Amino acid sequence: MKRIVIKIGSKLLTTESNKLDLNNLRTIVDGVSYLYHKKNIECILVSSGAITCGSEVLNISPKTIPQKQAAASIGQLLLLKEYGQFFGVNGINIGQILLTKDILDHGEKYKNAKNTINTLLKNTVIPIINENDSVAIDEIKFGDNDLLSSYVATLMEANLLVILTDQDGVYDKNPHQHSNARLLTLLHDIPSDMIDRASDALDSKGKGGIKSKLMAAKYCLEHNIPTIVANGKDSSILKKIINDKKGGTWITTK
Ligand code: GLU
Repeated sequence: MKRIVIKIGSKLLTTESNKLDLNNLRTIVDGVSYLYHKKNIECILVSSGAITCGSEVLNISPKTIPQKQAAASIGQLLLLKEYGQFFGVNGINIGQILLTKDILDHGEKYKNAKNTINTLLKNTVIPIINENDSVAIDEIKFGDNDLLSSYVATLMEANLLVILTDQDGVYDKNPHQHSNARLLTLLHDIPSDMIDRASDALDSKGKGGIKSKLMAAKYCLEHNIPTIVANGKDSSILKKIINDKKGGTWITTK
């Protein structure tokens, strides 16, 4: 395993009151640092959380696009400051990349994004990517970071995409509605009707529910990149995935 993209959802990084959840953030940073230092794995993070923690500072629940964009501009700074501090304690530098979907249509922008991320990795810096929410309009929006993370995984030819969320993985039915829902530990295919049946966002935080995670995994499957959807609240989840090949739902052709 050489290169992993790790997507971290808003619900993992923020508290009920929409402040940054520094305990969870530190735990995730420590897990990533372990992969980086002990396993020599290049890690690229795709992190959500900016709009949620920025709206807490503004003291609003953002509804309009300008409100969300203003919240993102405040929150992105707070988020990266904390990442910088926690990774710094572990002797790791970070770089920020904010992307809009039009990089996929412009050869030059695509190449630049790839070159920048590769140069950061070569210089032992962990890139932390988010959508450039403050400027993105519908036409150039990824929409959610699950999809963004799958594009980053293919752009950077990663060996694996790990989507960390607050659920244990993908279930055969909605675990919030069905007490007998069963965790699916291995999937070799994502049929369209599974995506159709999956629910969208489960609450106001973040944009992706299980549906966008399945769509991201399907996109990666089409590009021969396995995806794991797993619970980021488990402090040893990244170790389990890499050392024991266990944890969450594995979506892979093999
Ligand atoms: N880019 C958004 C943020 O940082 C999150 C989008 C998502 O949760 O998928 O707040």
